[in-house]
Amino acid sequence: MNVIRDRLMRAVIQSGICTSCGACVALDPTGLARMEDTLFGPRPVFPAGGAELPQLAWDACPGKGIHYANLYLEHYGRLPENWLLGCFNRVRTGYSADPDIRRNGASGGVITHTLIYLLERKLVDAVLVVRQGIPTPEKARVTIARNRAEVLAAAQSVYIPVSTLDILPQLLPGERYAMVCLPDQAAALRTLQLAGHAAARQICFLLGPYTGTALYPSAIRCYLRSKGVGDNDPITALKWRAGEWPGYMEIQTSSGKLFRSKKFYYNFLIPFFITQASLQSMDFTNEFCDLSVGDAWSPRFEAAGGGHSVITTRTDEMEGIIRDMEHAGLLVTTVEDPVETLAMHGHMLDFKKRGSYIRNRIRKIFGRRAPDYGLAPRPLPVSRVLVELLISGLFLVCGLRPSRWVVAQIPESIIGPLFNRLRLAWKSMSKPTKRKGLGKLAMIVTPPAIKY
Ligand SMILES: Cc1cc2nc3c(=O)[nH]c(=O)nc-3n(C[C@H](O)[C@H](O)[C@H](O)COP(=O)(O)OP(=O)(O)OC[C@H]3O[C@@H](n4cnc5c(N)ncnc54)[C@H](O)[C@@H]3O)c2cc1C
Ligand code: SF4
Repeated sequence: MNVIRDRLMRAVIQSGICTSCGACVALDPTGLARMEDTLFGPRPVFPAGGAELPQLAWDACPGKGIHYANLYLEHYGRLPENWLLGCFNRVRTGYSADPDIRRNGASGGVITHTLIYLLERKLVDAVLVVRQGIPTPEKARVTIARNRAEVLAAAQSVYIPVSTLDILPQLLPGERYAMVCLPDQAAALRTLQLAGHAAARQICFLLGPYTGTALYPSAIRCYLRSKGVGDNDPITALKWRAGEWPGYMEIQTSSGKLFRSKKFYYNFLIPFFITQASLQSMDFTNEFCDLSVGDAWSPRFEAAGGGHSVITTRTDEMEGIIRDMEHAGLLVTTVEDPVETLAMHGHMLDFKKRGSYIRNRIRKIFGRRAPDYGLAPRPLPVSRVLVELLISGLFLVCGLRPSRWVVAQIPESIIGPLFNRLRLAWKSMSKPTKRKGLGKLAMIVTPPAIKY
């Protein structure tokens, strides 16, 4: 009997709450387990029979939920002073001083430049990055980069699910690594490190993007259909954030067609293809990374153009590295009031901190599995719950096959700007409710409540 494997299969993978992190695959003692691409992103596949997975595979699984309060205490030695931001050292805005890195980056190129710095100063032997285009143009994989060119080739955000932790068995003993990963993966990695997992402990620096929403891979084909491109015209190149910040999605196809869609226009795909992992995660600012970086959305920076990031350090060592980079003229930064920077992401912080909590509760009320992070947000006004019912209902309807078919029939030139206008109208309409009490948000720590 494979108790842990069967439990993961039943309670997480088949229940649709696997976040594609890859941790359980890395822990498979046979080394034969793998992540396999599905319509919902990569999913673990274990060899028939196989060996028993260790208890750690269950403990570290972010799909079933990781007790965040315990993890803050074990990793940082304290609970967050600000529940929206997590434990932090300092918050800045800024960008890479290297124009090429800045232009190639998703926002200000800060993650890419920091990785290059860590490599070139020999603080690590290699870095683990996610790169679009492997093994085929529309797919993406985690990969080991050992030089500047390889890190640069992996710059930009990938907005479809990519597993990262399944790469751990490939690390060379004795080497030191930096890694980029999403919030659920960072929490799983910290759990592995705290349990003494040897390869996980070779990751000396963890960097990660602020993470709002990702899309199921089928969003890409839906977009192309809305442009009149048939499924028989293969994609030859895809970039999610090409060109000037905030960038556009750029797709080339085998027949020579080239499509570009502004970031805010192709966001129309979100309600139709948003991943379950995006809906259930309560972590927006990647709270277990040493360095977390997001887009600096504000009229001031958007008017200035060029690519601006919000840069949050969470450890003294990473704070020292960012300072060294500033002194060496590699980063251009301004120290900011942490609370003020949160206003740039108010809607997404609320979507995660209160929205995900409500959505997970709704799943449980309907008898479905949902992760438990051991945190309950307060205040949680009734009006906020009602708004969430509306949003969740919308996602439910939009995620249905007929709705996806309908949206693929509408030209992107119509749906893109229309969606953008609706998004802005909704943001301003729901602002009073979504921001109500957000500034004073606290979390009640709940005991682990999951029994499977
Ligand atoms: C799925 C997703 C959703 C996001 N949502 C938001 C949001 O709502 N608001 C916001 O402000 N910012 C969001 N971001 C972050 C933003 O897009 C930038 O990644 C961030 O500002 C860092 O910019 P940069 O120029 O420093 O990164 P770059 O210098 O371009 O480096 C990005 C690094 O991240 C790695 N990477 C890219 N995609 C992934 C991935 N899927 N998994 C693991 N590693 C990856 C790349 O390999 C690269 O090393 C999101 C990012 C992702 C991947
Ligand atoms: S969330 Fe991660 S650990 Fe859990 S089942 Fe999915 S891949 Fe495995």
